[in-house]
Amino acid sequence: MSAITDRFAKQHPKSRNVAADGGSLFPEGVTHVSRKLTPFPVYMERGQGPRKWDIDGNEYIDYRTGHGSMILGQAHPEIVKAVQTQMAKGTHLSASTELEIQWAQAVKRLVPSVEKLRFVSSGTEAVMMAFKVARSYSGKDKIVKFKGAFHGWSDSAYVTDPDTDQRYGIPRGTSESMIVLPERDIAALEKVLSSRHDVAAVIFQGNEIARPEFVRGLRDVTRRHKTILIFDEVVSGFRWSRSGAQGHFGVDPDLSAFAKILAGGLPGGAVGGKADMLNRISEDGVRHPGTFNANPLSAAAGATALRMIAEQPIGERAEASARRLRGGLNRLLQEMEIPGGAYGMSSIVMVSLGKDVDTRDQYAVPAGTEQGGRPITSEALDELHLALINEGLWTHPASFILSSTHSDKDIDATVEKYRAGLKEVRKVGLI
Ligand code: PMP
Repeated sequence: MSAITDRFAKQHPKSRNVAADGGSLFPEGVTHVSRKLTPFPVYMERGQGPRKWDIDGNEYIDYRTGHGSMILGQAHPEIVKAVQTQMAKGTHLSASTELEIQWAQAVKRLVPSVEKLRFVSSGTEAVMMAFKVARSYSGKDKIVKFKGAFHGWSDSAYVTDPDTDQRYGIPRGTSESMIVLPERDIAALEKVLSSRHDVAAVIFQGNEIARPEFVRGLRDVTRRHKTILIFDEVVSGFRWSRSGAQGHFGVDPDLSAFAKILAGGLPGGAVGGKADMLNRISEDGVRHPGTFNANPLSAAAGATALRMIAEQPIGERAEASARRLRGGLNRLLQEMEIPGGAYGMSSIVMVSLGKDVDTRDQYAVPAGTEQGGRPITSEALDELHLALINEGLWTHPASFILSSTHSDKDIDATVEKYRAGLKEVRKVGLI
């Protein structure tokens, strides 16, 4: 056992005990792949603003922020109040509520491309529904996605490669209904749409780091070929700008999928867009009978969060903190003579370790391996992950998702904790 793992085990005795139960209850011992950790997962107890505490009482600065849903930080008093008020009035009234109207109006106020919408329970469902609407509206089958994009875990969205899809439980017919193109390749899209007439829609992951020419190109090409353009705004929605990636890039998609921030940290999603397309959701069209559609708790949290985002500089604050963090981490990597850099868009900070990236360009991604550079090994990254947890950072070492509650002091402390983590990994000879 390395000194890092040893310290981790010493700091988390209660988590280790609970993990023994988790191991027998859940496949892989966890309920989400990103919560997996070797030697055992950490069990979290509570959060407040930018901080979280685990069941052993260890304190963390939080950069997973509810997988990106908590841009307001943990347990924001206004969200707590909205949910508690509704909780006492009933959590499912099996009828329409005024809350769903307020929630929908809040979305429309922020995202002009949304003429009509439907609420679902997650981002996965929102993308599923966008595909269904696009297929039903166009009368065509195929959906184009870009390689490496993540659009939730439904059969269609998860299609990667017909050879491996079956292992993921995806039927061959579904694999055949998707066309997977190389990432950020507008020429490949032009070629597909000029040569085939069975494409219902193209989906773009709004939080992919892409150049404006490419994103605007998507709109031009799809418009020319009369193909529906779907923006997956599950992560970028209400974060990249108040109106998401579409606002940042100035692009008007036909359909958008939302979740995460949309529901103020509770489960929830929405598909929205052109009214004539959404109107396909009907008795003789696309069916949508979901028990928790627009449930009052998510509606209360979501309407409150979106109102705050509209009226306060929530996204701006998170972005300023992200800029400060990128700057601090870049100075740190230079000082420690580690090639790479902190980069990324909006209030998400990515870190490339061992592989160079142009940190002055918000649209830059690390150079490909063919251009040289040597990324650190996955073993080193795993050690760094544990070392950062030991120092009190709840983050993946290569990706931080900021909230509006992180202060300059938190960011500066984070850089120092990252320094301590890197030093520990250097001590065991992995960096
Ligand atoms: N699309 C994107 C871009 C996502 O990042 C995610 C989840 N992280 C999803 C869709 C699926 O959302 P959910 O986890 O709410 O089903």
